[in-house]
Amino acid sequence: MSIIGWLHENQTTMARTKKAKNKGEFSKNCHKSKKIHKNKGQFKSGHEGYVRSSVLEEWKEPIPVQRLTSNIFKRVAKVSPSGLLYAPDADGQPGPAKLLRPITGVETETSTRYLEETDSIDNEMRLINNRKNAEMWNNSLREHTERAQCDQPHFIIDREIKKGLCWKQSLKCTNCLYSSQLYKLYTEIMRDGPGAKAAACNVGLQVGLQDSPISNTKARMLIASTNTPPPALSAMQRLSNAVGTATNILNTDDMLTRKREICETNKLRGLSADAAINISMDVRYNSTTIASSSKMGQNASQAIGVAIENQTDLKQIIGFHMENKLCWVGSWFRNNGFEVQCPGHPECTANVNDEEPLSEKRIGESIGEDLAHDGLLIQFVTTDGDARGADGIRTAMKRKFPDCTVERQADTTHLGQSQFRQTIRANFDATMFPGQSAERRKEQQKILGSTYSLI
Ligand SMILES: [Zn+2]
Ligand SMILES: [Zn+2]
Repeated sequence: MSIIGWLHENQTTMARTKKAKNKGEFSKNCHKSKKIHKNKGQFKSGHEGYVRSSVLEEWKEPIPVQRLTSNIFKRVAKVSPSGLLYAPDADGQPGPAKLLRPITGVETETSTRYLEETDSIDNEMRLINNRKNAEMWNNSLREHTERAQCDQPHFIIDREIKKGLCWKQSLKCTNCLYSSQLYKLYTEIMRDGPGAKAAACNVGLQVGLQDSPISNTKARMLIASTNTPPPALSAMQRLSNAVGTATNILNTDDMLTRKREICETNKLRGLSADAAINISMDVRYNSTTIASSSKMGQNASQAIGVAIENQTDLKQIIGFHMENKLCWVGSWFRNNGFEVQCPGHPECTANVNDEEPLSEKRIGESIGEDLAHDGLLIQFVTTDGDARGADGIRTAMKRKFPDCTVERQADTTHLGQSQFRQTIRANFDATMFPGQSAERRKEQQKILGSTYSLI
């Protein structure tokens, strides 16, 4: 039956029922009239109805519009080339989920979660200065006795102010109204000028991190693992920058002292102060392989060149240069729509264009200029198989000392390795090795190669 037909019949039935009701015969007709019983439109208890399943759609749970956190959003959503957000299914087609852009702001980190989940600060650990802690308790006890507020003092920690890893604390007595002043339970680094002095412990942590491969984030995790509230990451980063700058200056000064010592050693050996010395140098990249399997060019974004002196057995570092393509400041500017080019903008950390390859020759030249500037003349430069570093040193030395001769020497390790490889590849006469089979002769060829590499 069509909908229109059903409606028409239903209306007819209702009209008849109304008429019957008006006459006071409704209940009588319901029992006796066969015509009414045959009427399909009449309400019957528990009847599914005739049109519901075919006309009305099945009711579905509405899909809510969601705004996820950044981490979950990265897992769920994808951005189409046109910039639309969608949640793809297995075929890569947009799914039914409706996503808004993620919640911005700092994600809850391990340390923050740790702080939230800790039920009581009484169970936490603190890094405090022993002497200053004893002073706080003794002073508080003396003050409490002088004021004579109660006979049996019972002290607990009243207030706490966190300063990185360090703490300021005050005590109070639970049996009276006594409370002490705030005590700094750490030593400070003295300095001139206004502003709060840095806590020695926080600076010490940054100095230690400078000489370790972990970052502030990992350091916070380690501190949180000891049930100690970790310092705020932003404060650590600020201090890290200050310590980094100071370390840089300190290193430069220290290297200058070592270069002066070389001139001094020359004089003690009866030579002129600017007598030629020998150095070794090499460059290290932030990649295990110099070629990438997936893209053109070098597989590295940073290269560090180091030169050591061969004048003494101390082998001290006297030259250093780093080429860097990474710049977070520039990346941030570009991601926010500003047209900046690295290197060149303020506070840029890159010193090489992204398109340019990292160059050992350029690094050698920088180190050579630095050495020549401090009056050191180089005669022999020992490098690995790559001779461009020595070329750079020669170029720089020629500018300051036009008559000098800078020669490259191959280091024994790399030279031995290349001799071994060359011996393995060489085609010897069939009678050279006395082995019965080709395999045996190849073994003997390898032994010959390894003997050469040890010479
Ligand atoms: Zn008391
Ligand atoms: Zn930059």
